[in-house]
Amino acid sequence: MTVWLSARVMESMCDCAQELSPLENGGILLGWRSGEDRIIVDLRGPGPLALHGRHCFVPDHKWQVTEIEKAFEASSGDLDYLGDWHSHPDGIAEMSDLDSATLLRIARKVSSPLMLIVAGGSEWSPRCWKGQIVRSLFRSRLSAAPQEIKIFDSSQVWPRKPAIATSV
Ligand SMILES: [Zn+2]
Repeated sequence: MTVWLSARVMESMCDCAQELSPLENGGILLGWRSGEDRIIVDLRGPGPLALHGRHCFVPDHKWQVTEIEKAFEASSGDLDYLGDWHSHPDGIAEMSDLDSATLLRIARKVSSPLMLIVAGGSEWSPRCWKGQIVRSLFRSRLSAAPQEIKIFDSSQVWPRKPAIATSV
């Protein structure tokens, strides 16, 4: 599976991360599924009631749900929620225990969600995991597998398609 990440979305994520550094920032990833692959073409930021800490980030869930619905309707069902993203300022792009717990919670509602982390400072680098619930006889746990990210320029891929507005 490959995660195709629009260069514009990557840029927006870095801007958002930079803006609140050294506090964490984050939001949601929008796009579509193509077989096993995920194509990320848009994003949303944290929302007005999000909480930002140095080592934690709690998004404004209610706001995000509304944004997902709006994006879905505005794109006639083309854009869907693919997963969450957040920053690790001055940190490494690894999932913390809290991140794993978050991905498990999402995976209970959405099939194979993504968790994308941008880490760094002046330069930000992305890593992405796909979460899946592995069930055994008595309990279920999270399996988070790192995925290959390919950054693409959406203006070259869809030269005549009108740009999808990115509001953060
Ligand atoms: Zn984290």
